[in-house]
Amino acid sequence: MSPKQTYPWGHDRPINLASNFTKKEFGGRAQKVTLDAGFTCPNRDGTVSSGGCTFCNNNAFNPSYCAPEKSITEQINQGINFHKKRYRKATHYIAYFQAYSNTYAPVDILRERYFEALQHELIDGIVIGTRPDCVNNEVFSLLEEINKKYYLIVEYGVESVYDNTLKTINRGHSFETSKRAIEQTAAKDISCGAHFIFGLPGETKEMMLNAASIISELPLNTVKFHQLQVVKNTKIGRQFKENPLLFKQFELEEYIGFIIEFLSRLSPRLIIERLAGESQPEYNLSKKWNVRYDQVLRQIEKNMIDSNTWQGKFYKKQV
Ligand code: SF4
Repeated sequence: MSPKQTYPWGHDRPINLASNFTKKEFGGRAQKVTLDAGFTCPNRDGTVSSGGCTFCNNNAFNPSYCAPEKSITEQINQGINFHKKRYRKATHYIAYFQAYSNTYAPVDILRERYFEALQHELIDGIVIGTRPDCVNNEVFSLLEEINKKYYLIVEYGVESVYDNTLKTINRGHSFETSKRAIEQTAAKDISCGAHFIFGLPGETKEMMLNAASIISELPLNTVKFHQLQVVKNTKIGRQFKENPLLFKQFELEEYIGFIIEFLSRLSPRLIIERLAGESQPEYNLSKKWNVRYDQVLRQIEKNMIDSNTWQGKFYKKQV
């Protein structure tokens, strides 16, 4: 099979990558600028629970410029300067409301924060990360208003398609809740993304691979996958110190093999935002791969090309 002519996403890389999609959308590389807009989370403030998800420590993933004491504009300015050094080719910037649950506040506050980002002269759109149980009619009305004029993606933390896993990690919502939020978002014509973690306690490799067909049937536009990273100051971190064998710790080579098999079963329609995570090294308690994400991605693509595999090779649409 000649990949150059046959990949349905129109380029010669074996994965339907978001970088290619945003290049088409914006005419150049678009870089996300992470923001902490000062929201909290119902799984931490006692509304759903006060313990939070067992893996959660937002500080381990937030870049240094990102802090709720700073205004949205200040964080965007500092974020753009930060990224200019690492990603010189970026020509467009997307404000990424990432920390905690970014639809969990009164709608007038949400409006103020989102529009402060959208009115920044260098920002081309926003991505809003949130929990699937933090959207309602009022929030959807605001999102629909934004969606008419601006580039918008709503990204849900789904984490697992299995309710037992969601219970074990104290997620505080079921997979059905995620499915419903995704379907409601898609029905309003708002682009929708979802985040999943591989290696959560209790999930076997077979279960993780089987999730590909379940995820493929969701009306999602983008997907993000991470290996479980055990970080400091989390419940999982404490459990890990007591008994590391409770957790599936992927070696780099093993993860690359797994993700290739997973991608081969995933719908080619889904745009891949990310295939592995990178927490800040000082927080990481689990297996350290000591390679940057772009090197991991390059290796995945190389192995796929060498083995004549591509995203969706074995995908079968459910009837
Ligand atoms: S991972 Fe997200 S939903 Fe879970 S406790 Fe942390 S901020 Fe809340």
